Amino acid sequence: MKTLLFAANWKMHHAPAAAREYLGVFLAAYAPLPNRHVWFFPPAVSLVAVVDGTRGRRDIQTGVQNIHWESRGAFTGEISAAMAHDAGARATLVGHSERRHLFGETDDQAARKTRAALDAGLTPVLCVGEQLVEREAGNTIAVVERQLAPLAAWPPEDVRRVVIAYEPVWAIGTGRNATPQDAAQVHAAIRSWFTARHLSGDDLRVLYGGSVNRDNIAALIAQPEINGVLVGGASLDPAGWSEIAGTRV
Ligand code: PEP
Repeated sequence: MKTLLFAANWKMHHAPAAAREYLGVFLAAYAPLPNRHVWFFPPAVSLVAVVDGTRGRRDIQTGVQNIHWESRGAFTGEISAAMAHDAGARATLVGHSERRHLFGETDDQAARKTRAALDAGLTPVLCVGEQLVEREAGNTIAVVERQLAPLAAWPPEDVRRVVIAYEPVWAIGTGRNATPQDAAQVHAAIRSWFTARHLSGDDLRVLYGGSVNRDNIAALIAQPEINGVLVGGASLDPAGWSEIAGTRV
């Protein structure tokens, strides 16, 4: 049985009180399942509430949605990977399409954040994916490979710790999702890219993200290439999320 990771990106939702209320419902509804991990990415201000609220649940981990690549300094409004780790985070999203396209984050910055996360003991979930025009021009794989390129120079033991989330930009928050077969094809290309660089493509965890919901989750996780999902909108409701995270393979 393959191990599956269900990651919830709350984006800018659920302040600490709402996060505690959410967990009250979620933890009552969702019992640990074998070979299954659930990760929450709350807003940074709710990190401690989620870490405290899930203590004792070994199947659940908490992360942050963004970090700075420097460990400290005059970077008003930013938090470092080490700070997030100290507050209880064990993972971080990196290069989410909203960071790239709303806040101008570059491939190089995403790579520096991924490196900083590894150095601080956080698992980076590096988000990659093409925009609609890029897909329509047949450039999906080229875009994803460009986003992965900085990792090619890193030692395999570091790369193995990175989780890749393939999130086609046109599918995020739009209600349009890639078909499970399309997603699996890109996942296979991602794995081949790593394998061609002796970077353990088989061990790599590759998630799919983009309008995942309770209707399409079963078909997505049935794809052997897909190791789990990164979910935004459909993770915001605790009952709905417990149903999605509990989907049988
Ligand atoms: C996301 O935020 O990573 C995401 C995939 O959002 P949604 O599930 O809402 O498309």
